[in-house]
Amino acid sequence: MPADLQLAVSRIASVNPATGEVLGELDCAGPAEIHAAVSQARTVQPAWAACGIRSRIEVIRRFQQVLLACKDDVARRITQEMGKPYVESLLTEVFVVLDAARFLIENAYVLLRDKRLPHGNLALKTKSGRIAHEPYGVIGIISPWNYPFSIPATEALAALVAGNAVVLKPSEFTPLIAVELQSLLREAGVPDDVFQVLPGEGPTGAALVKSEIDKLVFTGSAATGRRIAQTAAERLLPVVLELGGKDPMLVLDDADLDVASSAAVWGAFCNAGQACLSVERCYVHEKLYGAFVDACAAKTRKLRVGSGMDQSTEVGPMIHERQLRIVESHVEDARGLGARVLTGGIRLRDLGPNYYAPTVLADVNHSMRVMREETFGPVLPIMSFRDDDEAVRLANDCDYGLAASIWTRDRARGEALAGRIEAGTVMVNDVMSCFSISEAPHGGVKASGLGRTHGRWGLNEMVRVKYIDSDLVPRMKKIWWFGYGSAFSGEMETFLDLLYARPLRQKMKAALRSMGALGRRKM
Ligand code: NAD
Repeated sequence: MPADLQLAVSRIASVNPATGEVLGELDCAGPAEIHAAVSQARTVQPAWAACGIRSRIEVIRRFQQVLLACKDDVARRITQEMGKPYVESLLTEVFVVLDAARFLIENAYVLLRDKRLPHGNLALKTKSGRIAHEPYGVIGIISPWNYPFSIPATEALAALVAGNAVVLKPSEFTPLIAVELQSLLREAGVPDDVFQVLPGEGPTGAALVKSEIDKLVFTGSAATGRRIAQTAAERLLPVVLELGGKDPMLVLDDADLDVASSAAVWGAFCNAGQACLSVERCYVHEKLYGAFVDACAAKTRKLRVGSGMDQSTEVGPMIHERQLRIVESHVEDARGLGARVLTGGIRLRDLGPNYYAPTVLADVNHSMRVMREETFGPVLPIMSFRDDDEAVRLANDCDYGLAASIWTRDRARGEALAGRIEAGTVMVNDVMSCFSISEAPHGGVKASGLGRTHGRWGLNEMVRVKYIDSDLVPRMKKIWWFGYGSAFSGEMETFLDLLYARPLRQKMKAALRSMGALGRRKM
């Protein structure tokens, strides 16, 4: 077995990050299990594809109802395994998946059915074209721990409705909720082996990338994404890469300070800051800066931190010690370079193993890691700017480009500025909720990744586009076939002039006359 395919451990434990309690243990899938799962998926996929879009949509509809019926149970399990507050499990996980199902139920048929392709090439008017959307076959999905249900579920639903089989490698920190997703899909009618879960750590993911899958949808860090892209390039495996972010929030001089500061606090501390779309850096016009920073600090001090199982908790634990140390190192680096810690900046050991106090930093700048690297924790660093140009320059001074937000009372000004931000999504007067709009594409530019999930763009990633072209006059030889000569070249020069150098009406008439003359030419 090649060294890079050897697995570090044979079992993984799912641990409640709030308490350290082991919730369950699972065997890691090795190359043999991965090979067997992908082969099995390939065997059953044609029948799944053959049952037709409408039947698959019915399965998605049943899945939606099955999930709705046990939403509270699923939400509790997510909170237990990942730590986020119960209400966030309900709204940012279960609700997102219910709505993704709604989008597919309403739109998948129209988006995926064959479509005629009208064309405007006058020389090829005897041709009738059609677009067919064909499933890839077996889609591999590798997912992270921070949205352990909504990320793999939305991707899997799109892959399944398009007629693919799916092999999911969930995060090693949240395998149980992936197994739960599998049983919900089975209950809804997804056949065994059309959706499979392969638990394991990084090496299991690496082995899946090297397996016989037809496409990979990966969500995770930019570092892992780069490694995957290199492996995928060797065999031209198509990949979608949903990677990290360092989302800026721009608070313009006319923003509503109270609303924008509440948004900053929610956007930075929702899911304990462990969201790819978190507010990772906040830039505030100098006119509002002092009052904005004070408002954020005051609102942050009031947040209730604790176990996500407590219905009143607003900020839960972080996922694990390693992520917590990254946060600590960013805060200490900023503190050392002159940032002011207005609140937080400490662990909350009394609450449990992985708690870090929601932290507001002022007087930060771009020499600090907290403004350049993904922190992925409960930290809100706030910096001032002088004018819109400087705000845009600071927002774009970043390797990542996932999303951004702009806060202003003037929507037109916000939307105009949105066009200048290098990001996959720019929200005017909201943060993060774009992920819940199932019609909207999700994905980034620069180091935030390649391709899109969600909406029609996410569905398009799950199919190969095939162009089927039929000639309506099969017995007629084509004028461009052999029989070349100077006369023919001259006629073609005239033909191109006629097609493209005149107003449309004249051009069409003359072109058709010319085609008639050329059609009489003998080969
Ligand atoms: P990660 O990159 O460490 O792991 C992600 C997944 O990849 C896990 O399942 C892991 O086991 C697997 N993996 C690790 N090494 C691998 C390898 N060599 N080959 C194949 N698979 C491998 O990321 P994480 O810590 O789980 O998640 C946090 C990151 O994910 C953050 O950077 C966050 O911004 C990003 N994220 C992005 C989005 C998005 O939509 N853009 C959404 C959520 C999270």
